[in-house]
Amino acid sequence: MARALTTGGDGKAQLAERPPLSPQPGQVLVAPQVVGLCGTDLELIDGLVDEAFVRYPLVLGHEWVGVAVSGSQGLSPGDLVAVEGIVPCWHCEQCRSGATNLCETYDEVGFTRDGAAADDVLVPAGLVHRLPPGTSVDDVVMVEPASVVYHGLSRLPSRPGLQCLVVGDGTVALLAVQLLRLWAPGRLALAGRRREQAGLARAAGADEVIGEVPKQAFDLVVEAAGTNEGVLSALGAARRGGTVLLLGLPPHGSVASVPVDDLVNGDLLVRASFGYSSSAFSRALGLIVAGQLKPRVLVTHRYSLEQHEQALGLLREEDPGEARGKVVLRISSGDGSETSRPSARA
Ligand SMILES: [Zn+2]
Ligand SMILES: [Zn+2]
Repeated sequence: MARALTTGGDGKAQLAERPPLSPQPGQVLVAPQVVGLCGTDLELIDGLVDEAFVRYPLVLGHEWVGVAVSGSQGLSPGDLVAVEGIVPCWHCEQCRSGATNLCETYDEVGFTRDGAAADDVLVPAGLVHRLPPGTSVDDVVMVEPASVVYHGLSRLPSRPGLQCLVVGDGTVALLAVQLLRLWAPGRLALAGRRREQAGLARAAGADEVIGEVPKQAFDLVVEAAGTNEGVLSALGAARRGGTVLLLGLPPHGSVASVPVDDLVNGDLLVRASFGYSSSAFSRALGLIVAGQLKPRVLVTHRYSLEQHEQALGLLREEDPGEARGKVVLRISSGDGSETSRPSARA
């Protein structure tokens, strides 16, 4: 039997046993190796995600890296792979324009189809990226959130020397710092709530970690806290003519009162960004494979799949009292060994 971390959106997630999967034509069977958890997983468990974006019962796991069990064109069993989670139809107007994140038929691994927090997962062959041998799984496990950040940043006006602020101190915020560092900013600050995150922020490349967010001081502000307060302080921190990118996702139904006259008087460009396009995923993965982006410095906690309760419990803590970056599950085959993998199945 194969194990799968499953939720019905009722506040609980449990390790269910199910028969091993077998690939249909056009599919690849993958054995996940490492799976990252994030706040969205908690919202999926708690039933807080907009119902247009989820289907229950659901196997969790949308941030992951694995080993191909079956092959396909250009792919052999045993290859290390990263897999795009958003499944484009490739036919609708959005897909044809390249905006596959906005495909008219929303479909995503770990949301509307079973995810990778399991011994096996089925994915469309066209979304599988083969990785060079020796690529660090702790780097690649972050490619999904890195793609989300990359996609948002790639659509902003950019030039070297920008005064940049990231609001928030979770993994998306820290990845935003890492990616902004590649833009050669003049100043790169992170405004976080938790003092314990300062070390991670600096490891990610922040010049400074600030508590109070100054008014109208930055050319570019990235909101990655996903809270109404975060959005308001991000809008207030941009200088006139500046840009604000909204990356954080507040709970479904959140409503904030925005000082509209300040936005107009400030001549602000406010950009919100959803998910990632297929090309953004490829580019973010390219940066990781080339060693230009090393998100593994942000992985702070590792658990086994059996320890999912501990892992999710740590993620739920508002103030864990220590630095918390990415929390990952290592998927092993149940005997406690970290390395044994299921071999190809008939
Ligand atoms: Zn996530
Ligand atoms: Zn489409």
